[in-house]
Amino acid sequence: MTFVIASACIDVIDQSCIEVCPVDCIYIDEDEDRMCYIEPDECIDCAVCEAACPVGAIFRDEDLPNEASEFLEINALYFKDKDAARARVEQIMSDGVSVT
Ligand code: SF4
Ligand code: SF4
Repeated sequence: MTFVIASACIDVIDQSCIEVCPVDCIYIDEDEDRMCYIEPDECIDCAVCEAACPVGAIFRDEDLPNEASEFLEINALYFKDKDAARARVEQIMSDGVSVT
């Protein structure tokens, strides 16, 4: 299990979640990224970040809405291929898809 950040974070990125995560497993490159990403192998499923997010962008993986399901893969992808994850986010934004 892991927590997942979905599209509501895009271009908000206030980093409230990073401030509260007890294991520092939420990452962003401020020069390159339009959202934060949770490292699924480091997340301890404490749920603290979910409550801290002002826009409701963070979900337990099993609670992800169907329309946001691809963000489970995108969060994990970021830790294997950052450019590929960024490209997925850009594609979602250019498609104008509105998901939670
Ligand atoms: S659920 Fe807990 S450990 Fe996982 S990203 Fe959120 S704050 Fe960090
Ligand atoms: S608290 Fe929410 S909006 Fe802010 S950086 Fe984290 S996921 Fe993004």
